Amino acid sequence: MDTTDYDQKLDWSSKKILIVEDDVFSAEYLLEVLSETKVQTIVSNNGLEAVEQTRNNPDLDLILMDIQLPGISGEKATMLIREFNTEIPIIAQTAHAMSNDKENYLKAGCTDYLSKPILMTDLFLTLKKYL
Ligand code: MN
Repeated sequence: MDTTDYDQKLDWSSKKILIVEDDVFSAEYLLEVLSETKVQTIVSNNGLEAVEQTRNNPDLDLILMDIQLPGISGEKATMLIREFNTEIPIIAQTAHAMSNDKENYLKAGCTDYLSKPILMTDLFLTLKKYL
């Protein structure tokens, strides 16, 4: 995996993102794709933990939020995060990108969304926008 197709090599070594994803393979895919950028990562596999990790890591720059999670949904987790952090970009990652759903994610406090399966190009373009 490399980023040479992009105008410049992405260096996000000073950035820290939280990946919320309950599917191990999807999480590993994201970590692999992102490893080239040297971005610092924390992974959470459930919504409540994601809320706590956001609270405990005030230096986080962005959250990639899966919507379908065991326990509370990514939407609910986003709403809880927004109670104490209105600034951090939260990117919903969802397999159900119906236009109605998208509105709900944005209403819940998500900044943007990516449709699964997440393509490397889309991921980098979206992260470039918010990091
Ligand atoms: Mn999921």
